[in-house]
Amino acid sequence: MFQKGLLVVLSAPSGTGKSTVARLLVQRNSRLRLSVSATTREPRKGEVEGKDYFYKTVDEFKSMIENDEFVEWVEYCGNYYGTPKKYIEDSIENGFDVLLEIEVEGAAKIKEKYPDCVLIFMLPPSFDELKKRIEGRGTEKPEVIENRLNQARREIKCIDMYDYFVINDSIDNAINSVNIILQAEKSKVKRNKDLLEHIGFDRR
Ligand code: 5GP
Repeated sequence: MFQKGLLVVLSAPSGTGKSTVARLLVQRNSRLRLSVSATTREPRKGEVEGKDYFYKTVDEFKSMIENDEFVEWVEYCGNYYGTPKKYIEDSIENGFDVLLEIEVEGAAKIKEKYPDCVLIFMLPPSFDELKKRIEGRGTEKPEVIENRLNQARREIKCIDMYDYFVINDSIDNAINSVNIILQAEKSKVKRNKDLLEHIGFDRR
């Protein structure tokens, strides 16, 4: 029985390990696809065009906005980030679940446009641990690190908007928690009206 895909938003302060968790989640679940965002930020060492992001100039990004190619976009820490519309809508229509790895402002916009989506916030085990992870990454200048820590403080304050939280104390625990959430969400009666009808369950 066909079931439309689930739109899942995963947010977390920078340095929490959300990209690693997101990548492993899609590797281990063939029904789950990762949406690749467009950004004007410079690629970090090791990042790959089309896999981590679609890297755009500011002009290119602005013309994508004008052409209505994003379901949401934001300016974050001086760069633009946006979620391409076509990929997520096609995937959901074809029964694939889609994972968006985006920050809190974008998550709020997605919730408004797709009220059936599931919002998950991932937390580091502690703020000190987050600081260590951001500094340890070694790819950012001190002022960028400070900026990202302040951003993290602001983002954690938005957790009330989310449906679930998971703590990334270990990658496997975080992945298990997200999988359990997805399984529960996909088992909700309201998401399975057609299936329940099909097996002859008369609710009237
Ligand atoms: P980073 O520069 O560390 O890759 O990403 C910075 C923040 O932007 C992260 O929280 C990341 O999840 C978020 N982000 C990435 N792509 C998008 C997007 O398309 N939309 C929004 N709203 N945030 C995004």
